[in-house]
Amino acid sequence: MRAEVLIIEDEREMAELIAMYLQKEGVAVKICESAEQGLAVVEEHTFDLVVLDINLPGIDGFEFLQILRKKSGMPVIVVSAREGDEDIILGLGIGADEFVTKPFPPKVLVARIRALLRRSRSDSSGSSESGLRHFGPYSLDMEGCLLRAVRGS
Ligand code: CA
Repeated sequence: MRAEVLIIEDEREMAELIAMYLQKEGVAVKICESAEQGLAVVEEHTFDLVVLDINLPGIDGFEFLQILRKKSGMPVIVVSAREGDEDIILGLGIGADEFVTKPFPPKVLVARIRALLRRSRSDSSGSSESGLRHFGPYSLDMEGCLLRAVRGS
């Protein structure tokens, strides 16, 4: 599957394990170790999907999701060691598309990512796509009708 996935996860080994499985499927992966770093990255680039950890240093995954949802409908799978019902309800309530609790078999996560990508692709064939489109050095904010120059790579 051709897709670009952003992984926000502070445990290096976990992030690399997920990345390895996705790369085997032909998915391009970017890893961020904090939500702050993730926010900077999504400012510049739209991903097909975000894999998001909840327990992060600094801004946590829930806060990241709330900030992201103000400007983007990118599909998000929350991957968390916190398996309380409250966390799952909160996560889905503020805009997560899926919630996977750790530990999980990587194959299961990959299958869910695959399913979610398929769903979001068929959804966005309509006019409902929000967020940014990129044209060379510019990005076009479809909602705000705002054309911006993308800052230096
Ligand atoms: Ca963590």
